[in-house]
Amino acid sequence: MTLDRRSFLKALGVGSAASLAACATPGGGLSMAKSGGRRVVVVGGGYGGTIAAKYVRMLDASIEVVLIERNRQFVSCPFSNLVVGGMLNDLSTLTVGYDKLAANHAIKVVYDTVTGIDTAAKTVTGSTGTIDYDRLIVAPGVDFRFEELEGYDPATTPEIMPHAWKAGPQTLLLRRQLEAMRPGGTVIISVPATPFRCPPGPYERASMIAMYLKRSKPGSKVVVLDANPDIVSKAGLFRKAWAKHYQGIIDYRGAKRVTGVNPRNMTVSIEGLEDVKGDVINVIPPQRAGDIARAAKLTGPDNRWCPVNATTFESTVAKNVHVIGDACIAGAMPKSGYSANSEAKVCAANVVALMNGRETIEMSGINTCYSFVSEKEAVSVAGVYAVKGGAIISVPNSGGVSPDLSETEAIYAKSWINNILVEMTT
Ligand SMILES: Cc1cc2nc3c(=O)[nH]c(=O)nc-3n(C[C@H](O)[C@H](O)[C@H](O)COP(=O)(O)OP(=O)(O)OC[C@H]3O[C@@H](n4cnc5c(N)ncnc54)[C@H](O)[C@@H]3O)c2cc1C
Repeated sequence: MTLDRRSFLKALGVGSAASLAACATPGGGLSMAKSGGRRVVVVGGGYGGTIAAKYVRMLDASIEVVLIERNRQFVSCPFSNLVVGGMLNDLSTLTVGYDKLAANHAIKVVYDTVTGIDTAAKTVTGSTGTIDYDRLIVAPGVDFRFEELEGYDPATTPEIMPHAWKAGPQTLLLRRQLEAMRPGGTVIISVPATPFRCPPGPYERASMIAMYLKRSKPGSKVVVLDANPDIVSKAGLFRKAWAKHYQGIIDYRGAKRVTGVNPRNMTVSIEGLEDVKGDVINVIPPQRAGDIARAAKLTGPDNRWCPVNATTFESTVAKNVHVIGDACIAGAMPKSGYSANSEAKVCAANVVALMNGRETIEMSGINTCYSFVSEKEAVSVAGVYAVKGGAIISVPNSGGVSPDLSETEAIYAKSWINNILVEMTT
């Protein structure tokens, strides 16, 4: 049986799709009067926030949705390693706007940086004013624990040792540094201890950089200094790819935590060992939930990540506030764009259920992370998730890694990025 949009909404027992359809007003400040009876505010228009905003509107068009995002355009981290490796010339195909999303779903998009969340007063404040909410969805992604790296100045070090862990100018800087490097040079990638955004990301990056060096900078190498004891994700497949394509180019060193940097000497320090010198140094710092989540005291005892109810993604420390994506503790689900998308849908459905006094739905999550290992080949890891004993667990015997390095996986990966970016922006 297929349902058209009207029947679908009716079946869910929600309001008329037409009731707020004329309210797509992207831009404007936060000091706006409520146009409907109830309002959901979403902070952060990335992989999680866009989907949460869209699905709340799709599931109950009588709820006003305001999406607050600091940038007018979103740059996708997924596929940004392909820019670093030269497979994509620039970030244009990974850069998207919010106009269609706003117009298609009558979401009010406000471009502002949220500076305060008052969970008692149920308000959100930015430079353009203060807005109240009935429920709040917070999806700010990650920020960095720079303070754990001795010698790291957040204002200047990223310009010399880019992290490129938020796509944009940092990605392009790392690319330019590689292009400018002498043949025979050394590139260092430092990988923080888990949990961090995109577990396979650093190893995809090592592959992409090695691919570029092999072709354009003979005699150069990539030294991966990993704080973790071993490659965190798809280890067997990355090893296979590195043995096949990058023998003598990638020098992987596990259990080597970078504790300090010296941008002047272009060295990094590792506990108990000699400093390592590089021509290009990509320091991926340790991470935590986006600053606004910490400022709003949504983080747990570690003051890093936000604890949530595993079914509704409602914060366990603040009522009527939900946290999704990289910022939340989602049990076995990795911090990925795909996970954020999946969490956003469950969260939106349960926000709508709670606002309508209905029973919440069960949490069912999925994730697939593709990684390019050469110009034509990719590998993937997939997982299915459910709630058991109050925590998100990986469903036994579900998911797994792709059987081999594969050109078909590369096709799937390209299709995935196209689809997910369209889903986020239309
Ligand atoms: C190199 C790299 C490769 C990756 N590859 C993949 C991949 O192949 N597949 C995959 O699934 N994932 C991948 N990821 C991970 C993915 O990018 C993240 O997991 C995903 O972006 C998380 O979504 P999010 O909504 O939590 O945060 P984001 O997508 O980062 O969105 C957060 C948004 O909040 C906004 N924001 C933050 N604070 C404020 C504020 N105070 N006020 C207003 N706006 C604010 C930000 O501007 C941003 O737009 C990769 C990451 C990296 C770094």
